[in-house]
Amino acid sequence: MSDTIAAICTANGVGGIGIVRISGDNAAAVASKVFRPKNEKNKIENLKGYQAAFGFVEDEKGVIDECIALKFCAPFSYTGENTVELSVHGGSAVLKQVLRAVFSAGARQAVAGEFTKRAFLNGKLSLNQAEAVMDIVSAEGSAQARSSAAALKGESGKTITKIKEILIYAEAMLSAFCDFPDEGEEEMESDKFFEKLQNAKDLLEKLITDYDKGRIIKNGIECVIIGKPNVGKSTIMNLLSRFDRSIVTAVAGTTRDLVEETVDIGGCVLRLCDTAGIHEGVDEVEKIGIEKAKQRIDTADLILAVVSAENEIDNEDIKLLNRAKDIPVIIIVNKTDLNENPDIEKLKKFGEPIFCSAKQGEGVEILRKEILNKIGLNNLDENNSFIANERQLSCVKNAYNAVNQALKDIKENQTLDAVGVLIEEAIDNLLTLTGENASEAVVAEVFSKFCVGK
Ligand code: GDP
Repeated sequence: MSDTIAAICTANGVGGIGIVRISGDNAAAVASKVFRPKNEKNKIENLKGYQAAFGFVEDEKGVIDECIALKFCAPFSYTGENTVELSVHGGSAVLKQVLRAVFSAGARQAVAGEFTKRAFLNGKLSLNQAEAVMDIVSAEGSAQARSSAAALKGESGKTITKIKEILIYAEAMLSAFCDFPDEGEEEMESDKFFEKLQNAKDLLEKLITDYDKGRIIKNGIECVIIGKPNVGKSTIMNLLSRFDRSIVTAVAGTTRDLVEETVDIGGCVLRLCDTAGIHEGVDEVEKIGIEKAKQRIDTADLILAVVSAENEIDNEDIKLLNRAKDIPVIIIVNKTDLNENPDIEKLKKFGEPIFCSAKQGEGVEILRKEILNKIGLNNLDENNSFIANERQLSCVKNAYNAVNQALKDIKENQTLDAVGVLIEEAIDNLLTLTGENASEAVVAEVFSKFCVGK
């Protein structure tokens, strides 16, 4: 029997509607102590699952607010338990009073992630789906929201399930052969067995290589703008973010610190960082800015390297481009309004530049497209779902390593027992990913990252 828990499920702050969720065996009994329906017939205990009633929430002092009570009967609710949701007006004082009344009626405060944890324990969600709930709630960009929704629907789970099935089949082939080596065929169908493992390995590998795309969708693209002072970095950033964020002046070296801006680009979050023009700084403030900028370059997903069409490409430009060598880079020749035939010969070895006149707003669409292109998100299927976090990645990597080793062992004619152990290890890791055999510690760790009310 589960005790009955309650929490405010809507965001903190003023809102049209706020919801207190009550879940557990006695949810209806608790709710009926605080909810008085306008129409006597609609008492909570008389409602069916998915039925709602209008009325009032009350405590010992009287009416707290008008309320719609919505009833869910186990197992047809988010948590899989009996649940009642009380929707009232969304002020935090009202919600706190309602919650207090619910506690007096016999529920206890839900701890962080407890609703979703119960959903997991009741088999409503896998562990990776529970993680998707958290990702949806915190999504900033639409691509992340959609990809998390796909994960919640179980899209990424489908690939995992497929790999699991392949491995379980391979394991069965192996044990049939080991248990009855003399019956039936002389040799195990080793080609077919090998092919199965190879197939599992390929699928696991794809999940690992796609992880970065998923990470970028989730965390945003860390993008640093570099270039000599006055080439138009701030203007380009303003253009991308469409409002005046950094100070644009005609005096060299005015962007003294890192200026950051978050831009939605094709549904992805682009975290733009405009750097102090990396040149030999003269004063202390400038030096600090330059140092910070250098650090950011090393960890960026993408660099926008800006040069001016007005001037010849000089050693300082080249030095900057060299700094960004190992990172995806887009070279932007800005100020094309001042010179239609800039000298770009020296740039070619770093890549094909794109041209723009930031001041006149020309070239921004090409730039936006090129950003998505460079990061591999231009043809993004938003419904694709990726491995969502380091925990899941580590499970997939472990499974990959085990399968890879099994394939090697087969080639080197190691014992089939050793191969069997590796296949089991791979399956175990996938079961940890979905939570089917995750340890209590892993489950606790996952839900500790949730907030109260989820
Ligand atoms: P930053 O130091 O690289 O950040 O350069 P800013 O964005 O502050 O721009 C320096 C100066 O160049 C400002 O006066 C801008 O208005 C000007 N500027 C920026 N982009 C262009 C452009 O495309 N054409 C022209 N003519 N001027 C530009």
